[in-house]
Amino acid sequence: MLKSEFQACRQRNMQFHNFHAAVQTPVERTCASAPRAHLFGNYRPPAPTFVRGERSVLYDARGKDYVDLVAGIATCGLGHCHPKLVAALTAQASALWHVSNLYDTQPASLLAARLCETSFADRVFFCNSGTEANEAAIKLVRRFHHDRGTPRAEILVCEGGFHGRTLGALSATAQPKYHLGFAPLVPGFRVLPYGDIEALRANLSERTAALLIEPIQGEGGVIVPPEGFLREARVLCDRVGALLVLDEVQTGMGRTGTLWAHQQEGVTPDVLTSAKALGGGFPIGAVLAREEVAASFVPGSHGSTFGGNPLATSVAKAALDVLLDDGVLAAVPALTRKLHLALAEALPAGLVTQVRGRGLLIGLEVSQPAGLLAARALEAGVLVNALGERVLRLAPALTLNDSELAEAASRLKYAFRA
Ligand code: PLP
Repeated sequence: MLKSEFQACRQRNMQFHNFHAAVQTPVERTCASAPRAHLFGNYRPPAPTFVRGERSVLYDARGKDYVDLVAGIATCGLGHCHPKLVAALTAQASALWHVSNLYDTQPASLLAARLCETSFADRVFFCNSGTEANEAAIKLVRRFHHDRGTPRAEILVCEGGFHGRTLGALSATAQPKYHLGFAPLVPGFRVLPYGDIEALRANLSERTAALLIEPIQGEGGVIVPPEGFLREARVLCDRVGALLVLDEVQTGMGRTGTLWAHQQEGVTPDVLTSAKALGGGFPIGAVLAREEVAASFVPGSHGSTFGGNPLATSVAKAALDVLLDDGVLAAVPALTRKLHLALAEALPAGLVTQVRGRGLLIGLEVSQPAGLLAARALEAGVLVNALGERVLRLAPALTLNDSELAEAASRLKYAFRA
C-alpha cells in the first residue's frame, strides 16, 4: 500500500519526464551537458539537476527520485507544489502581478491580517527574504529609539547566529567565515555567547537598542538555548528598555511544533522576522511588530519595490491557511515522534552522538564527516544537509507522509550501512 503510493508518484513523473525529453530546446540540451556554466560559482551544488517535485519527492533530469528531508532548507514546509499553493499562485498569476507600493493590493492586506490575528503582532512589513527582513528590523529598532529622543545604536547578537548576507545582516551574523574579505562591516553589533544569561545581563545597558536572536540557532548547528533563557532575556531587555527581536526565519511557520518557536517559551517579542517557509517555497520575507514599534516606519523611512508583491503574498496566505486550517501544524508532534523512531531504527549504532533541535528542525551530531554522509545519502536518493564538519540537519516538509518516511528510512539505512 505504502509502496504503491510511491510507485504512483513515480509513474506520474515518468509521464512528465518523457514529455519534456521529447520537446527539449537547443539551450536545454546544452545545459544538460554543462548545467551551471553561466551562473556565479558561489554555490557548490551536488550533481543532480532537479526538474520536478511532488510532496516530499524530488526528481532529477534523468528521472531519478529522491526523498527530500531538507525542504529547501526549511522553506518548502508543505512539500513541493502543494495543490492549494499552486492554485493560489496560478489564480493570482492570471489576475495581477505587481503594481508597486504606490498603490494598494488585496493579497498583502489579507496575509498581514492573518499573520496578526495569529501572533503578537499588530502590523507587518513585507520584503523578499530573511536577510531583508533582518535588515529592516535592524533599521526599525534604531529608528524606534531615535523617535524617543534617546538614540541607541548598539544591537546585541550571538556567536554562531545567522541573520543574512547583506552588510547589515552580515554584521549581525557572528560567524567569521562569512565575513572574510567583506570588511569594513557595519558598526554597532556586540557579540555574546549564545544562551549565556550572565553575559546578557552584563552587556545589556541603556545603550542597547535591541537583542537580535534566533530562538534556536539553525545555521549555527541546530543549537537549542538552555531552558528559560529567552524568558530571562525578555525580562532583562524590559529592564533597560531594549527591544527583543526574534529571528524566526528558520524556526517559524510551524517547524518546531508551534506556529512560531517562541510560543513554546512563554515569551512575546517586540519584533519578529520571518521568511523561508512563509512563502512555502516562493520568495517572501516579513517583519512583524507591535503597533508602538511599527509606528517608527513612516512613509519614506523604509521600503522595497517587490515587498508585498501579490504573487508572493497570495501564496504565503495560502501556506498559512493550509498550515493552520488543514491540520498540518497540529500533526507536527506526531510526525516528529515517527521521524525520530524511524531514524533510530535506520541509522547504525554509534553514528549519531547527539540529537538536537525541536520538532522538525533536527540536528544530528555524527561521528563521521557530515559532508560524506550527506553525499552518500544523496546517492541513495535522500536529501539531508551537512552543517559544518559533524552535523546533519534534517528539516523535512511538515507534510511528510508515511510512505515517504518509510522510503527515506530504508534508503538511509542502506546508505549508512557499515
Ligand atoms: N535568518 C535565519 C535564522 C536564517 O536561517 C537565514 C537563512 O538561512 C536567514 C536569516 C537569511 O534568510 P535569506 O537567505 O532568505 O536571506
